[in-house]
Amino acid sequence: TRERLVQAEKMAAVGTLASGVGHEINNPLAFIISNLNYVTGELGELTKREEESERWQEVEQALSEAKVGAERVRRIVADLRTLARAQREPSKEVDLHALLDVSLATADGKLRPRARVVKDYGTPPTVRGNETRLGQVFLHLLVNAAQAIPEGGADQNEVRVTTRRDERGHAVIEVSDTGVGIPPEALPHIFEPFFTTKPVGEGTGLGLSICHTHLQAMGGDIRVRSEPGRGTTFEVTLPPFGSSLEERFKSSR
Ligand code: ADP
Repeated sequence: TRERLVQAEKMAAVGTLASGVGHEINNPLAFIISNLNYVTGELGELTKREEESERWQEVEQALSEAKVGAERVRRIVADLRTLARAQREPSKEVDLHALLDVSLATADGKLRPRARVVKDYGTPPTVRGNETRLGQVFLHLLVNAAQAIPEGGADQNEVRVTTRRDERGHAVIEVSDTGVGIPPEALPHIFEPFFTTKPVGEGTGLGLSICHTHLQAMGGDIRVRSEPGRGTTFEVTLPPFGSSLEERFKSSR
């Protein structure tokens, strides 16, 4: 519990920092991106003869690398600002199934072409939490699940959302997919910030680390099981509303 309190304080500090720094970075970044676009446009105006030169190609290469870098920074700042925004919201009683339904509807465009979605809702206990944060967690897990499944096999693949109460009385929410799975050597790293196996520009590697942080801050946890080639299951646990950990946690904020 002590560890969780320290973690919560750390995250509050990160949130404050992220919103401030995010704002400061956004303006110069917009300037950098618009200048890169301007220079690209100007290059397009050069004559055919110059286009064939090696020097022209080097400039073009440098420009496209700079754009990829700038786009990556833009996404990271956007993720950090989302994190900061969620931290300002108070926690309250959460309707897990309603929240899962909203997350499923939001991810529908990504899920539908790749898998059939199965809702296997049980009777989890009532939980208290931050709805924005939890919604981000579920949405992120669903989008990751969709991205793990190759396009075109929607009838052979499944994304399943399960809820139940465990032996300790905690709420358990599982998001499982029949996607590519996670190789054992990657497994210890997936919750680390900036760890990603996705192409540059597609993943920031911040998603799971933000999920982990949000859940820890609510007294919950996240675990993973995966079998390469068969699929992955993420298991989220949350303490029941009014449990001692949750109460102690609340009074410390
Ligand atoms: P990102 O999605 O931006 O890469 P995440 O922190 O969400 O960042 O995920 C980190 C890595 O964990 C992903 O790049 C991927 O390799 C792996 N991963 C996460 N979810 C899944 C999943 N459902 N199936 C397979 N691999 C996954």
